[in-house]
Amino acid sequence: MALLVQKYGGTSVGTTERIEAVADRVGRFRKEGHDVVVVVSAMSGETNRLIALASDIMEEPTPREMDVLVSTGEQVTIALLSMALQKKGFDARSYTGSQVRIVTDSSHTKARIKQIDEQNMRKDLDAGRVVVVAGFQGMDENGNITTLGRGGSDTTAVALAAALKADECQIYTDVDGVYTTDPRVVDSARRLERITFEEMLEMASLGSKVLQIRAVEFAGKYNVPLRVLSSFKEGNGTLITLEDENAMEQPVVSGIAFNRDEAKLTISGVPDTPGSALGILKPISDANIEVDMIVQNVGEDNKTAFTFTVHRNDFKRAQEVLRGVTKELGAGEVGGDTKIAKVSIVGVGMRSHAGVATIMFEALSKEGINIQMISTSEIKISVVIDEKYLELAVRALHSAFELDNAGVEETF
Ligand code: ADP
Ligand code: ASP
Ligand code: MG
Repeated sequence: MALLVQKYGGTSVGTTERIEAVADRVGRFRKEGHDVVVVVSAMSGETNRLIALASDIMEEPTPREMDVLVSTGEQVTIALLSMALQKKGFDARSYTGSQVRIVTDSSHTKARIKQIDEQNMRKDLDAGRVVVVAGFQGMDENGNITTLGRGGSDTTAVALAAALKADECQIYTDVDGVYTTDPRVVDSARRLERITFEEMLEMASLGSKVLQIRAVEFAGKYNVPLRVLSSFKEGNGTLITLEDENAMEQPVVSGIAFNRDEAKLTISGVPDTPGSALGILKPISDANIEVDMIVQNVGEDNKTAFTFTVHRNDFKRAQEVLRGVTKELGAGEVGGDTKIAKVSIVGVGMRSHAGVATIMFEALSKEGINIQMISTSEIKISVVIDEKYLELAVRALHSAFELDNAGVEETF
């Protein structure tokens, strides 16, 4: 008999019928004798609705009040799911994050979990109850309600699984596993039987929002067996595992991630002297703006062009900061482009294969797609391209790396 932590996302609890279906599924696991802790998200669309209400009142609501507001979504679903379980004859109890005592830091809207008191959950489990916990939320040391960032219920589930030393953390969603790329964009995307923590972390960081980045980090750090499955149909889903040394040959590229969240800023005529990069990026970092990719061209006549990307939400602020910077540095114009996309290929197999970049660049070039920026790490290559070519690029790469080829269906 296992201890399972199961998380059901927004679409999986989107209606009362769906909540009843979740109760049936949880009930089946109970009948098999497993202990179950369930983490639920708000009903689909609810968190967005709450955020929109806040913006009707003011442009920049205080983060503390935002957390009080958006955490209510999950409180609705824990109560409804517990009722559905009780109706079906299962003993169940709902808890908000603060009732469980999920203690976080005080960074409202993007808090990090520091500690979880698993005692009360254990008492309920020992008494034969299903424990239903609100995802996405916790409280700081002063009792203020905090939330963990969009998609944060995944992290709640993994953190509870780590605290309870659960046998498996199951993330139930509207797709039946992790795919080679977003199946909503590429029809021929293929479900992966397994993916390593490291690859999943890159995929999530580079835009595959099927799991929150922090959930994957947490699972890797505490070695929580993590599985992504569908709440709509049966199946094994995708297991996120440690790298298997004895596995048969890995595919070179396991998946393709992409995002449209970034914007590009370019300063021309930057003096090609020591300290210029610092002169540009320090004020950006002082303004609390995170920089992703950076390219500095080879200087000509002691001048160079400096390009970097930031989150689109920070684009206007970054532009303002740069206007001040160019004067100080004696640099030229500040240019910008918000219509860019980042496409990345990810795979631990890249470590032992040369020529991966060539295949990538060839596939893009064949489609006439211009690469604006490139960045690489041991297990990924990312390129920035014009946003309008995003889907074409993902499809081209998907077939160039034979991801939609049934012949490479399984690697383990
Ligand atoms: P939930 O509400 O259950 O948390 P999400 O919308 O956060 O669900 O995550 C599931 C979605 O992630 C899928 O519907 C799919 O469109 C998207 N997605 C993006 N990349 C991938 C991928 N590589 N594999 C599977 N799903 C992906
Ligand atoms: N309800 C929150 C969101 O929409 C948290 C989650 O669903 O994981 O982001
Ligand atoms: Mg999600």
